[in-house]
Amino acid sequence: MINPYGLLFEEITASILVKVVLSGRPVEDPPRPVGPAGFVIHSAIHAARPDVHGVLHTHTKAGCAVAAQEDGLLPLDQICMEFCGRAGYHGYEGVALNLAEQRRLVTGLADHPAMILRNHGLLTVGETPARAFLRMYCLDTACEIQTAATAAGSELITPHPGICELTARQLAGEDDSSDLQDDKAYGLDWAALFRMVERTAPDYRDGSLGFTHGS
Ligand SMILES: [Zn+2]
Repeated sequence: MINPYGLLFEEITASILVKVVLSGRPVEDPPRPVGPAGFVIHSAIHAARPDVHGVLHTHTKAGCAVAAQEDGLLPLDQICMEFCGRAGYHGYEGVALNLAEQRRLVTGLADHPAMILRNHGLLTVGETPARAFLRMYCLDTACEIQTAATAAGSELITPHPGICELTARQLAGEDDSSDLQDDKAYGLDWAALFRMVERTAPDYRDGSLGFTHGS
């Protein structure tokens, strides 16, 4: 599902999203226009990672800033450590219209849950869209922290690499002493976010907002 051309993000509701196949072709008739570059990245990953059912890609200011930093994402704070050794990197090759780039995107992501697209933005994946979203929330917050910390100009401290790795394992639920990443916790987070959107944007499901194709 992808956002159609011509709308502000604040105008987009669930029913406005366009369903496309792996080639990016809309399955609806009549098809609504979508950006050709908008699905090249996502379709490469959907095709290569059958474990993944959610792929999110953003161009937030903080994410783009970190994507432009030579050292990439630094382990500056606990929220960053979920991605220690668990984020891939992909060098910028121009606007992603080139299908040959898809192979390199998949190689960059490998089996990681996240990828920094150099000079471009962030990407997260998940077994569900909920997981991809919650990972993106943490990754983007990590980038906000990094941009604030690096802008302050003081010398930065980072934990010992072994502590970073331990924390990453704990947060991924790979450490026996931890159940931080259990499915129930994700479900609780997602349910809470749904309650929030029901309160703050109750027309998120539909609400055509006066949009009709071609108008
Ligand atoms: Zn992009």
